[in-house]
Amino acid sequence: MKLELPQIITQIDDDLHLCDEKSWQKDLREVITKPEQLLALLDIAPDEYLQHFKARSLFPVRVPMPFIKRMKKGDFDDPLLKQVMPLTNEFKQTEGYTLDPLQEHDTVAEGLLHKYNNRVLMIVKAGCAVNCRYCFRRHFPYEDNSPNKKRWQSALHYIAENSSISEVIFSGGDPLMASDEHLKWLVEQLEQIPHVTRLRIHTRLPVVIPNRVTKSLVTLLKNTRLKPVMVLHINHPNEIDSELISALEPLRAARIPLFNQSVLLKSVNDNAQTLIKLSETLFDAGIQPYYLHLFDAVQGAAHFDVSEQEAVEIANSMLANLPGFLMPKLVREIAGQANKTPINLA
Ligand SMILES: *Cc1c(COP(=O)(O)O)cnc(C)c1O
Ligand code: SF4
Repeated sequence: MKLELPQIITQIDDDLHLCDEKSWQKDLREVITKPEQLLALLDIAPDEYLQHFKARSLFPVRVPMPFIKRMKKGDFDDPLLKQVMPLTNEFKQTEGYTLDPLQEHDTVAEGLLHKYNNRVLMIVKAGCAVNCRYCFRRHFPYEDNSPNKKRWQSALHYIAENSSISEVIFSGGDPLMASDEHLKWLVEQLEQIPHVTRLRIHTRLPVVIPNRVTKSLVTLLKNTRLKPVMVLHINHPNEIDSELISALEPLRAARIPLFNQSVLLKSVNDNAQTLIKLSETLFDAGIQPYYLHLFDAVQGAAHFDVSEQEAVEIANSMLANLPGFLMPKLVREIAGQANKTPINLA
């Protein structure tokens, strides 16, 4: 009996399919960048949609295959397709919609935002594996923020000099676009700053390329003295499939807390039923719902906007039908505020 236990543990370890970096980099190279390819993969005849293709010029198309596999074939209204398909609507100039709704073009050091007390946000890597049409960073001047080790010095210096900073948030773009080696270097630098105790990673990459959860990434997060937290970005229950669930398993096994933030998006997830299902599916996948963001008024994406009044109605209906611990906080980010602003549901 006693001898069997270690054997079982080894077996569980082997069951966690951990890839090396080659797998996700291959998925990244194979990302779809043409709307006609995207529609062809979904068996959708392009004819009536051709006029939309030119919106690519506003923000490039980028969709990884594992994400496309979760879309329904033949359905132009698929909620996952809607998040990545360019539309002529994006050319519409809407009053009050700006290029930088969150005033994030103001950095305190290269690639470093310090808007909220105790925590800073690091633009670890420009660009994402997927380009979401509603992205509030779609106009971010990434070329001025593409970091390298030398350019990180001023950001690291700023963090070291500000002892109130206890949490560093890796963001982007998508921070997991960086190689594990690059991330390891950055984590090692942060570990040397005694007042930094927590490391948070805001990422959508494992959702669209599950192979991104590599053995070396899990090892890095398991072994750092910083307390790691991962915040994923999932908007619709159809984004969660068995491939994603098993990719996240090693992170759960390493007891790395997993949270999720969603954006409330017109005709993608703007109804209580979908969002209730999302919370429940997240929970089943070991992910805790965290934020439900009201859409940020970024130019070119006004067609995704859901009014605050509608949002409050949806959130109240969720509240009535979910256990409290599965209710995400409905928030809006207001430029200049010291935290995300909770929306009053009363
Ligand atoms: C959202 C955000 C944070 C983190 O805020 P939490 O409420 O702790 O999730 C930190 N810095 C910036 C710039 C942010 O946008
Ligand atoms: S993954 Fe996030 S940062 Fe990247 S395009 Fe989508 S919403 Fe924007």
